[in-house]
Amino acid sequence: MVEIHITDIIPLIGIPDPPNGRRNYNIPCPCCDNGPREKHLNINLSKDVFCCPRCHFSGGVFDLYAFYTGTDRVGVREVLMERLGLKDSGPQYEGSKKKREKRTITRPILQDIELPLTDIDTRHETYSAFLSKLSLASDHRQNLLSRGFSEEEIQIKGYKTMPVAGFSAIAKQLQSEGFYLGGVPGFYHTADGSWTLTQEKRGILVPARTPDGKIQGIQVRRDNVKKGKFRWLSSVGKPDGCKAETWTHIVGNPTPTVLLTEGPMKADIIHYITGQTVIAVPGVNSLNHLQDILNHVRAHGTTKIMTCFDMDYLKNPHVKDGYHNLAAMLAKSEFAYGTYIWDPQYKGLDDYVWHCRQEGTL
Ligand SMILES: [Zn+2]
Repeated sequence: MVEIHITDIIPLIGIPDPPNGRRNYNIPCPCCDNGPREKHLNINLSKDVFCCPRCHFSGGVFDLYAFYTGTDRVGVREVLMERLGLKDSGPQYEGSKKKREKRTITRPILQDIELPLTDIDTRHETYSAFLSKLSLASDHRQNLLSRGFSEEEIQIKGYKTMPVAGFSAIAKQLQSEGFYLGGVPGFYHTADGSWTLTQEKRGILVPARTPDGKIQGIQVRRDNVKKGKFRWLSSVGKPDGCKAETWTHIVGNPTPTVLLTEGPMKADIIHYITGQTVIAVPGVNSLNHLQDILNHVRAHGTTKIMTCFDMDYLKNPHVKDGYHNLAAMLAKSEFAYGTYIWDPQYKGLDDYVWHCRQEGTL
């Protein structure tokens, strides 16, 4: 059977083309957006699906065509074969059969697809409201105080304890207060159609923020875990869930020299103790969103980046390539850059500056 893709029908229904060859883009949602500046409808050309996280208008190629042309959904395939001048052929050779079988997995089943990430303002509002409903357990408070934070700073940062129960109740409350949960990583739909939150191991919730302090996403610093201590709150693979991004965090206003470390919590501590502006990537192998932040600080007068990863970290062979890519990115953006080195008995720069502060040398 001949396959028909969203790219085939774009000229027929008159929706915008993807910008510079992208496979995933947003256009104004015909069901819930007012005006061309709002773009909630996500078009995914790789999966041949579309979805609006706000009003849940979603489906596949034929649904999209039927909606925009007012055609009956049932006869869309025949209409399109005709309009596109295609013919259904007989049995095909094995290669194409294999390909087709693989594709059927990604076919849209309305309830089962993940939602595209919603916009930053919506995420910030939902995550802020979410954190405001949680508390910080005393062991977590002690942990944060022992790293150098003050009570007040802990509150300002919005650190909370990942709950171990009551997921549906939290989601229900957020929804009843008017917060959007669709396209916010961590939230998804249960079988009975109500929203809930992904269960994650108990730990400290650490918000990753934009230059203006909005919450991009939330990391969970999981208790009693050695490997994979930090995870992003995600509802990947869940009905109406949403995959987490590996956000870059920044704390402080751009200054001529800015530090770059690993992990938002470390960045927050270094900034709080030294007053220096700090950028945090989740790891040197997760640089996806770093360029945006580099462009931001560049435009605001930063000329030098000093990296300060844990002293043992760069000895790890798995991070060599990542560090090489990072250096290349900094050079390409025309930053001067260097690396801070400190007393190796303190693993991270956060540990070291806290030690110096306690000694009265900082
Ligand atoms: Zn919509």
